Amino acid sequence: MPTFDYAPAPESPSIVDIQPSYGLFIGGEMVEPVDGTRFKTVNPATEEVLSEVVAAGPEDVDRAVAAARAAYDGAWSRLSGRDRGKYLYRLARIVQERSRELAVLESIDNGKPIRESRDVDVPLVAAHFFYYAGWADKLAYAGFGADPRPLGVAAQVIPWNFPLLMLAWKIAPALACGNTVVLKPAETTPLTALAFADICRQADLPPGVVNIVTGAGETGRTLVEHRGVDKVAFTGSTEVGRQIARSVAGTRKKVTLELGGKAANVVFDDAPLDQAVEGIVNGIFFNQGHVCCAGSRLLVQESVADELLAGLKRRLTTLRLGDPLDKNTDIGAINSAEQLDKIRMLSEIGETEGAERWSPPCELPERGFWFPPTVFTGVSQSHRIAREEIFGPVLSVLTFRTPTEAVEKANNTPYGLSAGVWTEKGSRILWMAQRLRAGVVWANTFNRFDPTSPFGGYKESGYGREGGRHGLEAYLDV
Ligand code: NDP
Repeated sequence: MPTFDYAPAPESPSIVDIQPSYGLFIGGEMVEPVDGTRFKTVNPATEEVLSEVVAAGPEDVDRAVAAARAAYDGAWSRLSGRDRGKYLYRLARIVQERSRELAVLESIDNGKPIRESRDVDVPLVAAHFFYYAGWADKLAYAGFGADPRPLGVAAQVIPWNFPLLMLAWKIAPALACGNTVVLKPAETTPLTALAFADICRQADLPPGVVNIVTGAGETGRTLVEHRGVDKVAFTGSTEVGRQIARSVAGTRKKVTLELGGKAANVVFDDAPLDQAVEGIVNGIFFNQGHVCCAGSRLLVQESVADELLAGLKRRLTTLRLGDPLDKNTDIGAINSAEQLDKIRMLSEIGETEGAERWSPPCELPERGFWFPPTVFTGVSQSHRIAREEIFGPVLSVLTFRTPTEAVEKANNTPYGLSAGVWTEKGSRILWMAQRLRAGVVWANTFNRFDPTSPFGGYKESGYGREGGRHGLEAYLDV
């Protein structure tokens, strides 16, 4: 139980101005849809309707792609890198200036704790724009030839787990390289993308360089299949990634896919266990486990398993679940009723298959979508909770005896996005990192992001890299 009580410390929502309805951001203006319909977006912590947004239809998508093409041909591709950089710096600075508003809006729309949107998501958004602003006039030195050219119009489809951060990962490198974009935010989290549309206007970005079309999966499909698109960038489920790969096969479109993961967080017996506990909590309970690189499989060396699990359970009893806008909150709301159903379903399967389920005592709010932090022990590699991405606050614990066994178990997954290693020995970290088939390997830390560091997967986690110098390649004709 918590050592002492905290008084509520809610961040005020009055800083955000959510309009009752929104149009689409096309050609530098908010416009009414031509053939789109409207749907409601809700606050997942309260189920209260926040606003009505457009599900863009084929003609709307067509208009957005045409606006992006006109901006590409007319202005953006001819602008010097230095001038593109100035716009990106401007976007970065406005994100910083409006950071409190963006953090509150993200927490309201997504359900994530304000502590995370304020201290992780929004600062990283600004950092991404700053970082790629710096590249805009240095592309000739990036290792992709003396005069690397942009691709043209990029179609970008992003998920709901880090709405504004995924927008930044997509838009910042695309613009730095001289492309224009049409971006579709996820159905359940459109509001910060629409706020970003306002930031583009505030920055005087030339009309049509960034276009934002809201909608559901069908709008995403129409956008990626549009013939006027030169590049497709997608982050989301492996299943939809596969459909997209099929639909662009045989076209001239360049594609990057950031898909799912089932990362192993490997704790050796010489690891500092208190720190490892913090890393495990950060690995799977950060953002309610809605993280593609989440450390959802804990592999712990058998000799320290009991001690580590006791420490982990003690720590989990101190996590606070509740109002995402409360600054004390550690665990916010699950993003949607559908996602909650999926987490519940897989957790029930975990019990049926014989794993032991544990959650700390924890009161769930009556309204909204909530799931307690959950740990499964006695998990074997064949269990579905050890193989499938749950995308929720659910940890599956397995044990190992030797480093070789740890590597085999860690790599026994169709995914390969990330992994963690906890040990005192530098040599062991390097030994493990060479053998783990994962795009990112964290050592004695987890879920740490930086715009200078490339991120991406092996196997069913997708292809292409985002972030860092490598992230430029996805948006250049090389
Ligand atoms: P999706 O892959 O369906 O959604 C990602 C984005 O793609 C959304 O903007 C979505 O729109 C859009 N989309 C859906 N169908 C298509 C299509 N045929 N063509 C183009 N775009 C499309 O993920 P879900 O939100 O349905 O989540 C399902 C599961 O995926 C989760 O439980 C989780 O396991 C995993 N996931 C993994 C993520 C990751 O980062 N690796 C991120 C999100 C989910 P819309 O929002 O309207 O569906």
